[in-house]
Parts: sequence; C-alpha cells; structure tokens
Amino acid sequence: MKIICIGRNYIAHAKELKNPVPEKPVFFLKPDTALLRSGKPFFYPDFTKELHYETELVLKVCKNGRHIAEDFAHKYYDQIGIGIDFTARDLQGECKRKGLPWEIAKAFDHSAPIGQFIGTDSLPDRNNIRFSLKINGETRQEGNSKDMIFSFDRIISYVSRFITLRIGDYIFTGTPEGVGPVQTGDRFEAFIEGKIMLEFEVK
Ligand code: MG
Repeated sequence: MKIICIGRNYIAHAKELKNPVPEKPVFFLKPDTALLRSGKPFFYPDFTKELHYETELVLKVCKNGRHIAEDFAHKYYDQIGIGIDFTARDLQGECKRKGLPWEIAKAFDHSAPIGQFIGTDSLPDRNNIRFSLKINGETRQEGNSKDMIFSFDRIISYVSRFITLRIGDYIFTGTPEGVGPVQTGDRFEAFIEGKIMLEFEVK
C-alpha cells in the first residue's frame, strides 16, 4: 500500500503559501508507516517547530491500473474519506529553498491520519463534496471538491501514467486554504458533509 498526495490543488491554498498555480498536478508519496488510524493519538514530532495541518479528501483505490483514461478513472475508487497531510513547514521551506525532496517534511511516521470512508455511491456528486476541519471545536478549514484545480479523475489519470495504482492505495487530493500550526493538546475533528469522519488528539 502506498499513499499518493497531490499538492497545490486549490488556488487559494497555492496562493497562501506563495506557490504558483500548477499547470499539471504536483504529487509526492508517503510510505505506509505514515498512516494513523482515527482515534489513535498523534505525537508532536521532535524534529519540527512548525507542524502544519492540511485537511484533504482521500480516495481509496479499488482496482489495479496504469495508464488509466480520465473517462474510466471513476471506476478505480469507490470510497472517499478525509485525512490530514501533516507537514513540517519549517523543514519543507528548507527543502524548497535548496531544491531538495520533501520526504523529511511530509513522509514521516503518522503524518497521514485517516478516518472512516464512505462509498462514492452514497454521495450524490463527487465533484461537489463539502468537508471541514475543527480544532478544539473551532472551524479552521472548509473546502469543497468543486474548487479543485484537478478533478479526482484527472488526478488518477495523470498519476497512473507514472505509477501503477493498486487496490488499497490512498490518494490525498490536496488541501483548501486555511492551513496552520498545530499545538500539543489540540483535538482534531474532520467532517464530510457535516458528518464526523476522523478524530484524534495531539500529544
Ligand atoms: Mg497536502
């Protein structure tokens, strides 16, 4: 199992981090050791002083495939959930400045908490899914899949030109604006269409 993450997929988020709006999807990987199941605590890592949350819709791949045409891409995922793409923003900034890969900032242990998944057939429109994050009961991020620069189908088609998708892989589809710092003691709750799908505490 692997975790594929799309970067800069919402215009307002690309702008808040002063990144250019991409012409092609930007992606990177996290290993299976990055997963953290809902309910388990997340321990603030000692190698960063600027850990950020990024709330993202997550696709669960249900069919093996490569070179998937956009028209058929919807057949390759049948469940959608929500996850946090934890990012050590200070380390990422250093990597960006030096032109180095992002793994130390993005792929560390438990950097990808995920919650429950729901079947795509129970969502009326995949391209209009509301999601949000509350920290300590206060809303910090709100997004909608209709604001993505690259749709789920476009992402699957693009990524599968380079990397074979396998059953059980996860695809994080990018964060809307409103990313910010994490503090020890924070309680995370993430929602799809107002329904709680993920919760955990930072220790
Ligand atoms: Mg992200």
